[in-house]
Amino acid sequence: MARSRSGHQLPAAVAKSLANASPQPFWLDQPDAPEPLPALAAHLTTSLAVVGAGFTGLWTALLAKERDPSRDVVVLEARTVGNAASGRNGGFCSASLTHGIANGLERFPAELPLLEKLGEQNLNEIGATIAKHDIDCDFQLTGELSVATAGWQLEGIEEEAAAARALGHDVEVLDGEGIRRELNSPTLVGGLKFTTGNALVEPGRLAWGLRRACLDAGVRIYEHTPVTSITPSRTGLTLSTPYGSVRAGRAVLATGVFGRTLLRRIGAYVIPVWDYALMTEPLSDAQLAALGWNGPRGAGDMSNQFHYFRLTRDNRMLWGGYDAVYYNGGRIRDEDAYSPATFAKLAAHFFTAFPQLAGVSFTHAWGGIIDTCSRFCAFFGSAYGGRLAYVAGYTGLGVGATRFGAQVLLDKIDNLDTERTRLALVRSKPIPFPPEPVRSGVIQLTRASIARADEHEGRRDAWLRLLDRVGLGFDS
Ligand SMILES: Cc1cc2nc3c(=O)[nH]c(=O)nc-3n(C[C@H](O)[C@H](O)[C@H](O)COP(=O)(O)OP(=O)(O)OC[C@H]3O[C@@H](n4cnc5c(N)ncnc54)[C@H](O)[C@@H]3O)c2cc1C
Repeated sequence: MARSRSGHQLPAAVAKSLANASPQPFWLDQPDAPEPLPALAAHLTTSLAVVGAGFTGLWTALLAKERDPSRDVVVLEARTVGNAASGRNGGFCSASLTHGIANGLERFPAELPLLEKLGEQNLNEIGATIAKHDIDCDFQLTGELSVATAGWQLEGIEEEAAAARALGHDVEVLDGEGIRRELNSPTLVGGLKFTTGNALVEPGRLAWGLRRACLDAGVRIYEHTPVTSITPSRTGLTLSTPYGSVRAGRAVLATGVFGRTLLRRIGAYVIPVWDYALMTEPLSDAQLAALGWNGPRGAGDMSNQFHYFRLTRDNRMLWGGYDAVYYNGGRIRDEDAYSPATFAKLAAHFFTAFPQLAGVSFTHAWGGIIDTCSRFCAFFGSAYGGRLAYVAGYTGLGVGATRFGAQVLLDKIDNLDTERTRLALVRSKPIPFPPEPVRSGVIQLTRASIARADEHEGRRDAWLRLLDRVGLGFDS
């Protein structure tokens, strides 16, 4: 046993597995990472200013150029392209625009067939763009496994499969033996095998590839250029940055939860929730054989505090999720990306799930911020008489949906009436979170109740049942 910083005893094997883990996100810690682009040191005028260069901002800029190559587009990024959630995620690129079918059915039942159609089209167009621009990000339409680790998680599984099939998905219900033929873990008791609706991607390389495609299309990108304020003028908006400014006819905020400092109203609907992930060293052929991962190479479990896991092209395993941490007051600090207590918990869970991988080391362990809203899928809005549009709240399923979000932002700033802008998903907002300090109290209470539900066969206590009734949720 070794003692962790929190004073708990860690099994020596778990401590050893993390001893050499770099705190960098694996996807961004690559030899082919691009050189940073210079910060803005001038006063510019442009047609469209995009604030933030995660997937939302990059897709907005690229699609703006695809729609109208003559439009001038400037992207302002506080740090570097893809440094936040877009370069830190699991790389599950889902067709779902609603954080999964169950959440979509609950919140937008009438609209879900259309949302699923638009989501599938969006996923296909992501693949087409990656191919067109020759982006080497290992994009593969894999499907995914949804696995149960306890009997209670199998309740309603047939109904879930039927609902998915009715929406056009190819899904198979598997018992314990069936699921362990897809992936050899003693903890699995059943699950669903989807062969549609999900791709796996290397998110860092996707962000860098979109950056290159934007630059090739004539987009001007400035890194290390935080926008510090936005002020309206008669003809547009002025965005101030440390060494310059941009006067723009239109602007979009592609800043997720960070946008709350530029437009306060965003902060009512979205909170920063930290999510953490580990990456193993490449598995040997013998370890891979023991793992027996024959099915779709991406999976998530069905508990409330869920793990997600996948293989990479060089046969590492990414293992993330479970702890979804809200720091009181909604604080955002860089140092919270490093959380040894959570890393140790994740590593211990990993070796329970895959005892045949005993002795494997983790090379990377990191955290990132999920922009969580109470309905778990993106919401949209406008400000300054429609000259600015924003999106936030993807809640852990934004790798694919951000491209759809970008299309909506462009529709909105050009005041277009489209199939997208008429959606209830686009026109409605989530239930806001209460202000602090009540917010922190409510969220911590909810997290504790969710953990108890997982320990007690999924039974939701009175608090969770009340939240279910009013449609308020907490997830990652
Ligand atoms: C650990 C983790 C795992 C996840 N796993 C998955 C997954 O497997 N599948 C999935 O679909 N989703 C996943 N997600 C969620 C997904 O990553 C996000 O939904 C998506 O990347 C959001 O993209 P974005 O561009 O909206 O936000 P971000 O990527 O957060 O980009 C916002 C950008 O704005 C910049 N910015 C902020 N303030 C300013 C300012 N004032 N001026 C200029 N720039 C500014 C930031 O630096 C940042 O680059 C995960 C997230 C995390 C953290």
